[in-house]
Parts: sequence; C-alpha cells; structure tokens
Amino acid sequence: MMIILKHIRDLESHLSSHRKRGKKIGFVPTMGALHEGHMSLIRKSREEADLTVCSIFVNPTQFNDPADYDKYPITLGQDIRMLEQEGCDVLFLPARAEIYPSGTNDLKSYDLGFLEKVYEGKFRPGHFQGVCQVVDILVSAVNPDLLYLGQKDYQQCMVIDRMLAITGRNEIELQLCPTLREPNGLAMSSRNRRLNEEERQRVAAIQRGLLRIKHQIEPGDTTSLVNEIANDLRQQGFRIDYFEVADAKTLAPIGEWNGKTDLVALAAVFLGEVRLIDNLVIPGSSS
Ligand code: AMP
Repeated sequence: MMIILKHIRDLESHLSSHRKRGKKIGFVPTMGALHEGHMSLIRKSREEADLTVCSIFVNPTQFNDPADYDKYPITLGQDIRMLEQEGCDVLFLPARAEIYPSGTNDLKSYDLGFLEKVYEGKFRPGHFQGVCQVVDILVSAVNPDLLYLGQKDYQQCMVIDRMLAITGRNEIELQLCPTLREPNGLAMSSRNRRLNEEERQRVAAIQRGLLRIKHQIEPGDTTSLVNEIANDLRQQGFRIDYFEVADAKTLAPIGEWNGKTDLVALAAVFLGEVRLIDNLVIPGSSS
C-alpha cells in the first residue's frame, strides 16, 4: 500500500522511523504526468533501496515561460495508480504553500557557473535556479540515500550534482537512469501529451538527427555535420533553440573534436508551441 503525504512534517516523521531501522531511502522527484520513463526510475529505486519515495510537484519557479506552466499536463489519478502498481512506498504530494511558505520572491540562489550559461541555462533563464530551489527543499525533506534522475535531462543531472555539492550533501548517491523512448525513438516526456499522433511521428526526427551525429561524426571539424542536420530539421518545420555537440563532462561546446573525449549531442527543438529536449552520449576512443 502506498502512503500519500502532503506535509513535510508528516513525511519527515514517517521516514525517520524507517531510517532509524537502517532502511535505505531512494527518492524520485517528478512533476507528474507520469510515463514509463518515470516508472523506470521508480523500478530502479525499488531494486536498490529499501523504501522508495516519489514526489509530484509542478514547480512554478522552474518555468521561464508562464504559458508552459499553465499548460503543463496534470494526470494525478492515473499517476497514483501507476505508482501503486509499481510498488512505490510513499508519494509526497505537497501544495505550493508547503514548498514555498513565504512565496517565491526571495528564494535562495546557487552559483552554477558555466552550467547556467549554456544550452538549457542560456535558453531558459532562471530555469536551473528554480530546479535547484525545489530539489534542495525536496531533498531536505526526504533526506534520501539515493537520488534517481533521468539522463534525458542531461544538463539538469549536472546541475543537481553541483547543487548537492554546494549544499554539502555529497553523501547522497546520484543514480543516472537511461532515457526511455517511444517505439519510434521519441524520448518519453510529459510534454509529448500535448502532441497529436501525427506530431508524435514527426518529432521522432529529433532523435534520428542525434543518431546521425553519433554515426557520422569524425575527429576534426564537427560544425558542418551538425549544422547540416540542424538545417534539415528546420526544413521539416522545427524551430531550434540549440542543436550542438559538447564535451560530455563539462558541456563546453566542441567545434573541433579530438576523437578521444566523450561527447554529448544536445537538442532543444520546438514543434509549434511544444518544446522538446533530447540528447545522446557519443563515447570517444579513450573511454
Ligand atoms: P519530470 O517529471 O519531467 O521533472 O521528470 C522527473 C524525472 O524523470 C527526471 O529525473 C527526468 O530526467 C526523468 N525522466 C523524464 N523523462 C524520462 C525518460 N524518457 N526516461 C528516463 N527518465 C526520464
């Protein structure tokens, strides 16, 4: 039986009794509208931890676009059923005032350095500050041993790793989980619910573009290949925030590749009003 808790104090007292008995706590933070990608994180936590906590909270401070926040899908009844079926132990379902009792105006800020200047950081100003604010609060409440994150949000994993270091929580083990995809290759995302069937087929082109980079990239200049594929996507009607290759460890953009370092190909693409992100890691010869 899954327990649903709405208040931090109830969550803390529930979890502390398990912790005292030496139970390892796994935590999967989400914004709901759950799909198989989320479930894969729950499953991994169920395998590795003694107790699995999932949170559902659509965090207003990480939406730089108010229309995106307003249209974010909410499917709570179905989410609860899926979590129960998967054997999740605790669902933390806070209201906005529980997370931000003094409002959202004077929240903490985090020194994310370069990570905030590129890709999602550059195109979604304030987004990663919002992510850090909410994950900091959620992680304080849950105090997990293991934290499960999806590689689909590649840069977000790096940002959360940094936030944990800044806040002195290095003992929490980050578990990065592979991106689950639809049969046509499209990365599963809550935002896919905003696409119709024809659009879902079209946006699979994003992953095909990333795969083309992975298969065709060679040491030396990377920009002409990447630009060619980005232009193909534009011709298919996509608007592109970024479509680039970067160093997989630092996210520094790579225009000339030595063939050795691991790369990550990163994409953020709009179809109509819906913005989708995806990425693929491309191992270098030294890994
Ligand atoms: P969200 O609800 O979008 O904030 O995502 C919650 C967690 O699920 C994050 O760690 C995401 O990276 C992860 N996630 C989202 N989509 C996928 C996917 N397709 N495969 C694996 N993990 C995912």
